Amino acid sequence: MTTTYLWTPPPVPSLPVRGSDQRLPVNRLFFVGRNYHAHAVEMGRPVDKSVERPFYFTKSPSSLVESGATVAYPPETQNYHHEMELVVAIGKPGFRVQAADAAALIYGYACGLDMTRRDLQLAAREKGRPWDLGKDVEQSSVVAEIVPMPGKVIAQGELAMTVNGQPRQKSNLDKLIWSIPELIADLSLFYHLQPGDLIFTGTPEGVGALQPGDRIDGRVEGVGEIVLHVGAAE
Ligand code: MN
Repeated sequence: MTTTYLWTPPPVPSLPVRGSDQRLPVNRLFFVGRNYHAHAVEMGRPVDKSVERPFYFTKSPSSLVESGATVAYPPETQNYHHEMELVVAIGKPGFRVQAADAAALIYGYACGLDMTRRDLQLAAREKGRPWDLGKDVEQSSVVAEIVPMPGKVIAQGELAMTVNGQPRQKSNLDKLIWSIPELIADLSLFYHLQPGDLIFTGTPEGVGALQPGDRIDGRVEGVGEIVLHVGAAE
């Protein structure tokens, strides 16, 4: 029997795949909190890996936007920030995976932007409240095409971005505090990872405010590029 709905369900969130006519159906969006020392310091919360574990937040899959889009400057913020990140696309299920086995879950990689209402995030942080209003912003999970690299661990490569051609963020993936296998292994202790789960691996230093009309150009060496236009405030 065909299921009928009261209204048309939203489309399955998905991303283009380099070299394929098939799109990658997106399941969940996971984000790593502090994963570059210099960014942790600029946020006022240095990381001591010897006594800490990574932490995560999530965003709604409906917040997904493709590279090249124009997104509205979001409401209820005066401090809308860019965070350029490497995104890992999970292609196989895994639960309680060892770091040594984590590569088998990797389908590929993409450039991503974790767009943030920084003022609301920091206000929530200070009050011990959830980050949702600062982080789970509509149109805030920007991802470029997925580049298939099944089973490949990326351990180095420059990550950089500009705003209106001016350099803002620049680092290297060899500065990740928790490596990609370590992140997959740790996250799989909490969640049954599924094909289509995306992991945004954290942003380096140099995050900053945007204005309506700004253009972001980002790239990750060996992966690809990403573009985002910031439109007028709603
Ligand atoms: Mn981030």
